[in-house]
Formats: sequence, structure tokens, C-alpha cells
Amino acid sequence: MFLRFGICLILFIFLNQHVTASYKSYDGYKILEVPFKHKIAKRYVQNIDKHFGFMPDFLGENWKKEEAHFFIEKDQVAKVGDALKFSNISFNLRDVDSKMFTFSRKRRDLANSPISITDINTRYLSYDEQIQFLNNLASQFPNLVKLQNLGNSYEGRPITAVRLGDDGTNKPIVWIDAGIHAREWISYNAALYFIWTILNDPNYRQLLQNVQVNVVPNTNPDGYEYSRTTERMWRKTRSRFTSSKCAGTDGNRNYPFFWGNEGVSHSTCSEIYCGTRAASEPEVLALTNAIMREERRIKAYVSLHSYGQEILYPWGHTKNSHPSDVQDLIRVGKMMATAIQNLHGTQYNVMNSGDGLYPAAGASDDWAKSRGIKYSFTMELSPSDDYTGFILPEDRIFQVNRETFQALTTLVRVVSQEFANRTTTSTTRISAKFQRTRGFGSGK
Ligand SMILES: [Zn+2]
Repeated sequence: MFLRFGICLILFIFLNQHVTASYKSYDGYKILEVPFKHKIAKRYVQNIDKHFGFMPDFLGENWKKEEAHFFIEKDQVAKVGDALKFSNISFNLRDVDSKMFTFSRKRRDLANSPISITDINTRYLSYDEQIQFLNNLASQFPNLVKLQNLGNSYEGRPITAVRLGDDGTNKPIVWIDAGIHAREWISYNAALYFIWTILNDPNYRQLLQNVQVNVVPNTNPDGYEYSRTTERMWRKTRSRFTSSKCAGTDGNRNYPFFWGNEGVSHSTCSEIYCGTRAASEPEVLALTNAIMREERRIKAYVSLHSYGQEILYPWGHTKNSHPSDVQDLIRVGKMMATAIQNLHGTQYNVMNSGDGLYPAAGASDDWAKSRGIKYSFTMELSPSDDYTGFILPEDRIFQVNRETFQALTTLVRVVSQEFANRTTTSTTRISAKFQRTRGFGSGK
């Protein structure tokens, strides 16, 4: 009896250690906060790679405090502090709570009941659980949901699009995707919550009759699983290169529009490595091909990211450059921000992607806009501060899900008002004319 208990105890300790040991430790890492209100500090931050001799991992900026956040590796902390002191730049190197970067998977892995909306609102799911959730919805709502495999990730995981309200007509489409950056976990939940709610709340039936919504809730499944199991702060895809010890490409620098131009790195070890060529990543290729197949019908594109509480509009590949209809983008972006604020007062900043600290070429929102998709945005979801950053606590998931839903349905409504029942393709024109002559109503 005691022997058996002893063996069990040893096994338990071993398994536990195995889980902890396989997860990357961020002991000694620091978060660097640099206020950039003053011009000199801002210029310094914008050229930080030249001052440091390397580009640190840029986490985001707090637009309220005008403060930039970077994640500094243990071995670089002293060097970074010296460089900042030497240039008289005020800064704060903050300790990170390394416990935040571990993730208890035991409880979750043991659970085998079907994934419910409570799960989506209270915890981060594995990729397999996300797919299970989508399959359940597809069988529950066969007339409203079609699942489409857009292609496979580098490691062979299917990238699934959820086509909501696809009735075979040529009605306008809103495209929403999430999680091209693996560590931005909240984006996956926000996309899944959107899918569940728009299906389960009958108030949105009419909207889905006017507009089709294609949601890709996990555009980087390899990176996400790696972030869940090995390195919490993993951002990129998981492509491997024979010539490098480093893996992965920044999917949001890999889109084929001004690819490789500005705000990217050509070094495989960088967090903003743009890949060997435009759309080199199978994930990005699958997404761009899928969008191009229907691009004349797609009237809005939103890519969900975190963190920062920002609604960003193109162009982002360079500074001080806007599309000719920028006022429309600002107007609709502000409507989305107001919808969020009306819920709990959370403030989102509507701004141009290129006007932040770093322009970035090869991002998906720029590419979507270049393909003629009118309302193209990137949303940086909550929080705005670097204390929780990408590690949004699970008890805050529900609120962010609800806020994101408000913004996204606002956009779907705009598309419905501006584009539904309009002639988008020649097929629609013929069918609308056909309906009119037969005396049928519109909005089939
Ligand atoms: Zn991101």
C-alpha cells in the first residue's frame, strides 16, 4: 500500500516537474518602460536598435501615458540600463512576475466535457478545444455555419474559417481573423465569443441575412500551441530554417504589400522577422488566397491582436501616409470605439498604424486595404498597460469578449447599411434584376 502510494507520489512529482521544466522560465527578464512625451525621448525610442546595438522585443505602447514597453532578456538588462543612463533617458526596468508566464494545463487537460461558452469566457483553450467548439456549433446551426479549411499550417494544423450566414448569395462579407501573433491569447477567445454570440442571439439573425461574416479564429495554430506548451511569449509562426537555429516568421510582416520595406528584420532570430519572401508562411498564403477568392465581396477586414486598446487603420507600412478615404475609416473606427466605451467605459484610441512609434510593412490590414477592402482595421485588444500585457488574467476574458463583440457588430452593421442589397458583382446584378421582374423582395 505504502509502496504503491510512494510510486504514485514519485510519478506525480516527476510529471509535475516535466510540465514545469518544459516551460521556458523568464526569471531575470525585465519590462523596460520608456516615457516618450518629450521629443528627445521619442527620437531615442524610435532609434532604440541603434542605441542598444539590437532591436529589443517591442511589446506595445501605452497611448494614454505615452510610454513604450519592451521585453528585455536577462543577459541584456545591464547593457540596456547603461545605454539609457548614458543618453540621459528616463526609464524604468520593472521586474516581471515569472509565475505569470507559467500556465497550469493539468486541470484543463483532464476536462473532457464539451467546450461551452463559459469556457470561452473564463479560460484559454487549446487549439483542439477551439476546433471542437467550432464543430459543435456547426452541427448545432447547420443552416448558419459552414466550416472551411483554408489550408494547413507549417506543422500541418488546419486553418479553419467559419462562414456565418453563407447562403450562396453574393451578399457583402466582413472578414475577421485572430491570433497571427501567438502570445496574444485574448484574440482567440474574442473571435470565438463573437461566433457563438452572433449565432445564439436571435437579434442578429437579420444582420446575418444581409451580411456574411467569415471568421478565422486561429490563424497561427502552431505558434499558439508553442506559446501554450513551451514559451509563453512566443509571437511568430513555427517555420524552421536549415540555415538558422531560430524558428518562426512574424506573420504580420509577411503579407505581400511593401513586404520587407520598413519596420521589419531580415534576421531569422528577430521577433519581427519578415520571412524569406512575401507570403512565405503557409498560414499567410492560405489567408491571402482565401481573401482574394472573394475580395470583391469583402467590405471590411479586422485582424484581432493585443495589447494596447487601439483601433488602427492603414497605411502602416510608412509614416504620414493615408488612403484617400481615410475619413471613412476614422468615422467607422470611432463608431467601433464608442460602442466599446458604452459598455463599461473602456477607452480605445483610433489611430493610423504608421503614426505609432514604428511603421511596419507587410501587415495584414495594409494588404487587405490594398486589395480594395474598404474598412480595414487592426484591433489591439485590452489591456493598455504592460502589467498584464499579453497575459490577460482569465477573470478579465469575459469583459474583453463583450467589448470586442460590440465593436465588431458595429462594423457588420455599417457594412449592412452601406453595402447590403447593392450590386457587388455581375451575378448579384442579374439576380437582383431577376428578382425585381418577378416581384420578389430583395435581400435573399
Ligand atoms: Zn499582434
